[in-house]
Amino acid sequence: MKLLVPVKRVIDYNVKPRVKADGTGVDLANVKMSMNPFDEIAVEEAIRLKEKGLATEIVAVSIGPAKAQETLRTALAMGADRAILVQTDADVEPLAVAKLLQKIVEEEQPQLVILGKQAIDDDSNQTGQMLGALLGWGQGTFASKVEVDGQAVSVTREVDGGLETVKLNLPAIVTTDLRLNEPRYASLPNIMKAKSKLLAQKTPEDYGVDIAPRLSILKVVEPSKRQAGVKVGSVDELIDKLRETGVVG
Ligand code: AMP
Repeated sequence: MKLLVPVKRVIDYNVKPRVKADGTGVDLANVKMSMNPFDEIAVEEAIRLKEKGLATEIVAVSIGPAKAQETLRTALAMGADRAILVQTDADVEPLAVAKLLQKIVEEEQPQLVILGKQAIDDDSNQTGQMLGALLGWGQGTFASKVEVDGQAVSVTREVDGGLETVKLNLPAIVTTDLRLNEPRYASLPNIMKAKSKLLAQKTPEDYGVDIAPRLSILKVVEPSKRQAGVKVGSVDELIDKLRETGVVG
């Protein structure tokens, strides 16, 4: 069984994003970038399926700038077998990403595509679902457990107030939630080995996909600053404060 794992290069989750002075977006100049954390979980899950003998090949794919090669090399160092970079400097929206992935799926014929549930830069949470719709495949989103069993996969999903398990016929789409696994760190020898693994370079034009944006961003603003809290000594004082601030009449 072949697995396809799309990985996105995003602003590192430890970095506090800065909004550009003109309000057109987030300033990415000289900012640390990393693999989207949910995609690390997707790569880890793919490797575990391969280690269990359930998968034969893991192909990592990224759509983004030349530097997304680094993200793919990380996936290769973790244990993916080969990689595809669809290179573009444009901001590619989830629908265009899904259309590109659809073409790659048609070419590569994986049995399972494991994506992150969302990319932490745009928080769209759309690509996996759109890819499922474009391919007409079943989808198990927000997975906290994935079990491949013959020609089917059972996915335990994190839903409001509990867990839901769905069984999908392969081929299928899975998107990862935080509790699915803890991704491994790539060891130094594996980082060295990853340098010689195959990384194919493509462009959106190679797949005939129009990546022109469908949305225009009107404005990006910082969240408003929260006022510091006040400690009160008693319930009476709390009620007085609430009255003073007009929270209660
Ligand atoms: P999103 O719908 O943008 O929140 O992204 C959900 C998932 O789709 C991510 O966790 C990735 O697995 C995949 N994805 C989104 N954008 C890209 C991209 N540019 N390159 C590769 N994978 C992507």
